[in-house]
Amino acid sequence: MTGWSAKELWEAALGELQIQVTRPNYETWLKGTVGLEYEGGKFTLGAPSPFAAEWLHKRMRPLIEKTLAGIVKTPLEIEIRVHQGREGQSRSYSNHDEGVSTNQPSYELPEQGQLNPKYTFENFIVGSSNMLAHAAAAGVSAEPGLKYNPLFIYAGAGLGKTHLLHAIGNKARKENLTVLYVSAEHFTNDLIVSIRERKTEGFRNKYRGVDILLVDDIQFIRGKEQTQESFFHTFNDLQNNNKQIVITSDQHPKSMVNLEERLISRFEGGLLADIQPPDLETRLAILRAKAELVNMAIQAEALIYLAKKVQTNIRELEGTLNRVVAYSRLTRKNVDMEVVTQALASLPSKPKRTIIPSLVMEKVTEYFNIGETEIKGKSRRKSIALARHIAMYLLREEARQQFTLIGAELGDRDHTTVLHGYQKIANDMEKDPQLKRDIMEIRDLLYNKVSS
Ligand code: ADP
Ligand code: MG
Repeated sequence: MTGWSAKELWEAALGELQIQVTRPNYETWLKGTVGLEYEGGKFTLGAPSPFAAEWLHKRMRPLIEKTLAGIVKTPLEIEIRVHQGREGQSRSYSNHDEGVSTNQPSYELPEQGQLNPKYTFENFIVGSSNMLAHAAAAGVSAEPGLKYNPLFIYAGAGLGKTHLLHAIGNKARKENLTVLYVSAEHFTNDLIVSIRERKTEGFRNKYRGVDILLVDDIQFIRGKEQTQESFFHTFNDLQNNNKQIVITSDQHPKSMVNLEERLISRFEGGLLADIQPPDLETRLAILRAKAELVNMAIQAEALIYLAKKVQTNIRELEGTLNRVVAYSRLTRKNVDMEVVTQALASLPSKPKRTIIPSLVMEKVTEYFNIGETEIKGKSRRKSIALARHIAMYLLREEARQQFTLIGAELGDRDHTTVLHGYQKIANDMEKDPQLKRDIMEIRDLLYNKVSS
């Protein structure tokens, strides 16, 4: 026998299973399980309800066995038993048992998502990048169901989608409206549980009995047919009753693959509002507001440095500020450039995929739909010149190439020409949100982030 205890073994297995199964499956079925016994080549797993035990037995046993055997390096047999942390219930499901449990205990639907009281309109900084989304969100919270239905907000990560959803919810609750905030993932889990537990009535009541339904990260339901179907009906019911629906997504409905056409057209039937990465001025305003919130005086130069350092994600911007603030409290120094540099010095640089120059060329030409001969050639057509400048910028920023090498790659251009192109893009990006978006999207292509 190996020296594993049941508990240790199961913890190790959970670590692996978490990677192998989808997050909702993990959260719903595996999270509350415990390793009970491991003896004589037999492993006993405890599941929190008969229903979970049965589901695991039917759907996941082979995977669980394989995972455990991989860890202890010897085949084993498993038994899944109901274990609620106290004695009593103990119907078990072993390898030879295909039994269906009939007397299921009551199992409540998971709690609805709570609203974070810190996410309000008052502390949402408005700039040109998020003005439309902010105005629309404020509009629906003032007159839910009447203005734009649904309101569909889309943006990249860390740009304030969840913040705005909570702000709508917080404001509406003050007006005594019933609000339900859920992530699309939570909606999916609820649906799974309600079907398995035959509680579909409860599910309907929960989702259709509200004044405002706030659904975060709708992209999660892509490719999940049953969830889409259920969401479609929930959506229609609410809309027909003039109840407000607000949805967020990491992308425009049209670019969401594996999403039913009828949902796309419903989403497009409301107001679509995107949030762009904030410009420098907005980033500075956000940093000032957050610094004030934690009562920290920060030297202007240091503030500008931070705002320039993190450009495309407000969550990261906050994180960086928090780090600097923590460092300055620790060292009892005021925040100036010295503190900033020291605080950020030990920050591990993000593990990045190495980007080779040919990949940059490939993705830039693909994005602009032009050929390599054109981008390397002499054409001064606006779209080609832009693609060329962007290639210069990304070859420098992402592939870390020297200007002379970039010149060579781009049809024997002089290094000063490349430097000029690089600087042009770096400057223009601050003023031109479309350009910024182009760059971000090509970056995503480079790092393979588009299809998830
Ligand atoms: P998303 O849901 O788009 O990924 P979040 O709403 O979670 O992003 O925002 C990430 C963090 O940035 C949150 O702490 C949020 O409060 C903050 N944030 C985003 N936009 C703003 C803004 N305009 N003003 C102030 N804070 C913001
Ligand atoms: Mg979010």
